[in-house]
Amino acid sequence: MIVLGIESTAHTFGVGIINESLRILSDVRRQYFPPKGMGIEPFQTAEYHSKYSVDVVKKAIEEAGISIKEIDAIAYSKGPGLGPCLRIGATIARALSLKYNIPLYPVHHAIGHIELVRSYFNLSNPLIVLVSGGHTVITAYRGGRWRPYGETLDITIGNLLDVFAREVGLDFPGGPIIEKLASRGKRYVELPYNIKGCNFQFSGLLTKAIQLMKKGQVSIEDLSFSLQETAFSIIVEATERALTSLKDSINSLAITGGVASNNVLYEKLVKMANIHGLKVYRLDKRWNSDNGVQIAIVGLRMLQQGLEGVPPEEAYILQKWRFDEVDIQWM
Ligand code: ATP
Repeated sequence: MIVLGIESTAHTFGVGIINESLRILSDVRRQYFPPKGMGIEPFQTAEYHSKYSVDVVKKAIEEAGISIKEIDAIAYSKGPGLGPCLRIGATIARALSLKYNIPLYPVHHAIGHIELVRSYFNLSNPLIVLVSGGHTVITAYRGGRWRPYGETLDITIGNLLDVFAREVGLDFPGGPIIEKLASRGKRYVELPYNIKGCNFQFSGLLTKAIQLMKKGQVSIEDLSFSLQETAFSIIVEATERALTSLKDSINSLAITGGVASNNVLYEKLVKMANIHGLKVYRLDKRWNSDNGVQIAIVGLRMLQQGLEGVPPEEAYILQKWRFDEVDIQWM
């Protein structure tokens, strides 16, 4: 079985091709970077995807060393994400499906992040911390779906880092730049720490950090350090609370999504997990951020489960779509 996955929810247009042994035959991507001081603008990003998408598909097939006729399924990101960007991926998927008569599988992007780390490490019952620009949630699989056991009630962690970066004049994406600056920070400045139960909020923290930066009383290094310390401690505390209540049925912890590449967050999580005798699994950096392989892997699971694809005329997109609305039939 060979599955081609198309990712186009936001900044990245990616195509990944895998086989049934989860061997990655190819992974080609192009990432859009907005002009300095700007965020990801949906139409400009879609225009970029539209310009490079055909080339990315061709390169992925070429790199995989297969003929397109050998592909058994095409999976595409149905959502959640930016409408114009999602439409590019869905349109390419539909066109390929129609031309070559290949079944089409719509995939929830966040389930892709989760399934990639779960499958790669063969995790049977993990608690997953998904931290990215679109999601910040602590989730475990129960009763046929990934259920949220804690999550942000306002902005995501990726949003906190990227918006802070933009407001203080740093490039996009802000996360890796803030990580570097934070490593040179020495003084902790107190910032709002909002957590209730296993849920939390970051917008007060963002506002305060921007205010402090604009007043010019704190260096960018100290502020980056304090921002990371506060936000990551909140996530780790929420994870520990969720973990404590689920402990008897959880046998590992995994972290995924773009922000999972941050070593400070990872080390904090490892320290906490050690106390509870759990290991933390994390993929290589490349696989934490958006890619076509994470979409292909969900398509493969659906195909292996014997699920039917959708006809091309029903290959819709969904800009808003919660991951806990998706029935998972392969676990
Ligand atoms: P989603 O996958 O939920 O749709 P997304 O489209 O933003 O979200 P990702 O590629 O998973 O996609 O994550 C991007 C985010 O990861 C950005 O907010 C970026 O700043 C952040 N990020 C990347 N590397 C790091 C790092 N080293 N430290 C902190 N954040 C990082």
